[in-house]
Amino acid sequence: MSDCLFCKLVSGEIPCDFIYEDDDVVAFNDVNPQAPHHFLCIPKQHIATTNDLQSEHAQIMGKLILAAKKIADDRGIADDGYRLVMNCNQHGGQTVFHIHLHVLAGRQMSWPPG
Ligand code: 5GP
Ligand code: ZN
Repeated sequence: MSDCLFCKLVSGEIPCDFIYEDDDVVAFNDVNPQAPHHFLCIPKQHIATTNDLQSEHAQIMGKLILAAKKIADDRGIADDGYRLVMNCNQHGGQTVFHIHLHVLAGRQMSWPPG
């Protein structure tokens, strides 16, 4: 997707320091962090929203969570815990239409979300 911000980060067209990369997934710190740790795990493949998921995407969606788990382990935040969030469309609060898993940590999260 030539007009997708996160595809441009994946391709290197827009520079970005990845904190994690494998064949299918990259992760990077959120530009507007909502917690002391706030990073995004995204598939390299363009998928706009969770509404676009098909059964063929099951493995890549699992890999997003496994990447989040590994980064949390590496940062030493796993035991205290973290929140995983994936927003979809307007009511979900999605603003970038390339699937991304938010990982938030380093403070107490509240529930329910606003
Ligand atoms: P959404 O609201 O779609 O769930 O989350 C999009 C997230 O992407 C937001 O938390 C926003 O701060 C982050 N974001 C938007 N543009 C950029 C960018 O250019 N670089 C980085 N690192 N994060 C971005
Ligand atoms: Zn994209």
